[in-house]
Amino acid sequence: MECILCGHEKAHKHGKTAKGIQRYKCPHCGQTFPENLNTLYYNRHLSSDEVHTILQSHAEGSSLRGVSRISGRAYGTVVSLIRDAAQKAQMVHNHEVQQITTEEIIGDEMWSFIKKTEAL
Ligand SMILES: [Zn+2]
Repeated sequence: MECILCGHEKAHKHGKTAKGIQRYKCPHCGQTFPENLNTLYYNRHLSSDEVHTILQSHAEGSSLRGVSRISGRAYGTVVSLIRDAAQKAQMVHNHEVQQITTEEIIGDEMWSFIKKTEAL
């Protein structure tokens, strides 16, 4: 496996984490890292099904508090997951979509947040 931290090609297996995730050690930089580093699962107590359900519900337009209720996860957990997923999606987009010449651009969705006011 390639070292996620320095790019060296031959990081080798180095036991498992307390949660049973494969850990790797790089002979070049000497660092260890779990195989899910740089993924949405790193440092989270969510199963892949839970991650899928939360992101799917959000994509279908459920409110954040609604998603929190459906998934049984804290509001902050839901927000943090969606933020990370959005950031990763933006990185993929920026990497994949480059130097495209267009004549027209159509935006099919636009969200804005104006202001939150105190209740009177
Ligand atoms: Zn390395």
